[in-house]
Amino acid sequence: CGIVGYVGYRDALGVVVDALRRMEYRGYDSAGVAIVDGAGALAVERKAGKLANLEAELAESGPGRFAGSTGMGHTRWATHGAPTDRNAHPHRDDSGKVAVVHNGIIENFAPLRRELEDAGVELRSDTDTEVAVHLVARAYAGGPTAGDFAASALAVVRRLEGAFTLVFTHADHPDLIFAARRSTPLVVGVGAGEMFIASDVTAFIEHTREAVELGQDQAVVITADSYTVTDFAGADATAGTRPFTIDW
Ligand code: GLU
Repeated sequence: CGIVGYVGYRDALGVVVDALRRMEYRGYDSAGVAIVDGAGALAVERKAGKLANLEAELAESGPGRFAGSTGMGHTRWATHGAPTDRNAHPHRDDSGKVAVVHNGIIENFAPLRRELEDAGVELRSDTDTEVAVHLVARAYAGGPTAGDFAASALAVVRRLEGAFTLVFTHADHPDLIFAARRSTPLVVGVGAGEMFIASDVTAFIEHTREAVELGQDQAVVITADSYTVTDFAGADATAGTRPFTIDW
């Protein structure tokens, strides 16, 4: 129900957990984080229940595992699959290198799930969301978008029906995060040497008041010092976006 993503210079875990806490008022039944470090590792923790449950889990994993200045977080309001640890976001692909968080509903998840199962992919949750991460991993592994993370994510987003804010991270691309939206909110927070994405400006208002709201069927790639908005076909739409200043 709440999403945040961060690429910058700070400890991403601290930024992400703070942001999730600020969005607690939205209500949720599970929470999770994914942190990408500069050495090609993706660390994920997720937990049913209150944010405090996730924080207790994170505290136990010890220093180092969640080091990194790129990351994302999610609070879930379950629509498909019970509010359990295994259905909590982020979800990962089989290699453990790609992760997704999602707000909304992927209406056509059933045929996509069958397609993946026919291809030998074993799904590990009961969510509508998980198909998206396997599809991105497969698009990245081979075919017309092979090796291009953002193009792979766009190709998958184009296949999805329903309402979604989706965020993907890739362990081999710690410098960027990909996000897309249809019929659910997604805002970019523009900092100095850091960039945020969130479902709600309250997630990053402590850090920056410069924001850009994405339009219907738009995607964005953020790096520490840039944001590039496109439509789902990949055509640049950055010039058409209207930056605004949050003045409250
Ligand atoms: N449909 C997804 C799920 O049930 C996402 C729910 C949400 O918006 O938090 O896991």
